[in-house]
Amino acid sequence: MLTEIIIVGDELVSGKTRDLNGWYASGCLISCGLEVHEITTVGDNYDTLSGALRTAVQRSRFVIITGGLGPTDDDLTAETAAKVLDKPLSLDQGLLDHIKKSTERLGLPWSPNLEKLALLPRGAKVLDPKGYACGFSVAKGNSQLYFLPGVPAQMREMMDRFVVPDILSRYRPSTVPHHRILKVFGLSESQIADVLSGVSDDLKRLMFGFYPSFPETHVTITIRGEDVAEIEGELTAAENQITTLLDPYVFASGDKTLEAVVGEELKARNMTLSLAESCTGGLIGHRLTSVSGSSVYFERGAVVYSDRSKVEMLGVQQHTLDTYGAVSDQTVREMAEGIRRSAKTDMGLAVTGIAGPLGGSKDKPVGTVFIGLSARGKLFSGQYRFPGDRQSVKVATAEMALDWVRRYLHGHPFIPGI
Ligand code: ATP
Ligand code: MG
Repeated sequence: MLTEIIIVGDELVSGKTRDLNGWYASGCLISCGLEVHEITTVGDNYDTLSGALRTAVQRSRFVIITGGLGPTDDDLTAETAAKVLDKPLSLDQGLLDHIKKSTERLGLPWSPNLEKLALLPRGAKVLDPKGYACGFSVAKGNSQLYFLPGVPAQMREMMDRFVVPDILSRYRPSTVPHHRILKVFGLSESQIADVLSGVSDDLKRLMFGFYPSFPETHVTITIRGEDVAEIEGELTAAENQITTLLDPYVFASGDKTLEAVVGEELKARNMTLSLAESCTGGLIGHRLTSVSGSSVYFERGAVVYSDRSKVEMLGVQQHTLDTYGAVSDQTVREMAEGIRRSAKTDMGLAVTGIAGPLGGSKDKPVGTVFIGLSARGKLFSGQYRFPGDRQSVKVATAEMALDWVRRYLHGHPFIPGI
């Protein structure tokens, strides 16, 4: 049973906006047990959109179309659908009243353009009659088409709340894929693939997928089947076996982030953390404080970018900076000690490095980063060289530093640097 997705928008064809809807819609269809055979991107253009729609209704049982439903003249998805499907636009009075009320409630001015939102191909069903965003579903021959807003958050909500249940009410899949996600940091995809080739034979019906999410790699484990309890049991066995094989590189499963894991580990041990960040400019603090409840274990973070701030706020010796430089093992050790002492926390984590593109030298090229960790009377430090542009170096540094805390708390060695 074929399904397909049509993404509409000039900004997507021109490359100004990156498509965020195709993969999401595709994931939803696949998790309904369907096969997606094409994602087409077309501009806000009658000819190309009508061509794509015509092909889709001829071959696909379910079609998801996103974008171009807005009130402005360049949005012509509904109009095009009306012509191609031979279902002329007609005014949905209930929807129009609802749009008027929502506009009033939000204190927005009424514009006659908004009336366009209530013009739907004849026979179309409004997907979320109570919402502000519009979307509709219409049948043509053997095809069921779903027209969704382009705004990714609105599209996702409609997909989850209306489209998936509607598809499942029309089609009962015999087998449904079930997934687990394991998050890995510090191994390349090919290293992970090598390890996974060692999973035991009784887990051979697993399918693995690799999704790089810089600087992490997310590994999906998928099993298709009918018996949900049996599949879930198998997935749990697989997850345990693979986590053991990839230990200690797997840091989380599911939606959990590294900062959430670090937070849980600190909390479980009643420990507190402070940060001294130079090249990451507060990124580690931002990540830690993105977790609700982080005030229990995160005391403070200092962004110590200049030499003077390292001296004044952390007590780094001017002599150390003059002799070894701000990006050095000696400095990062004094930074970690300094912040832990002044913040009176159990642990002090520090980073200093050259994010580039300027500032590199032969000895310390761009991407050179030092990490320091002071904890329970011990002091650790290490040097890394991260590839990529300024942003990549910052992101990789923050990840490695958080991973240091995780590994330290578990008693695992840190990922070796240079
Ligand atoms: P609106 O009522 O806001 O006009 P719409 O359904 O007409 O909604 P568009 O006008 O096509 O949607 O897009 C609205 C916004 O969503 C634009 O900023 C657009 O760039 C963005 N957008 C549309 N489609 C996608 C997509 N596939 N991926 C990411 N962003 C998208
Ligand atoms: Mg558009």
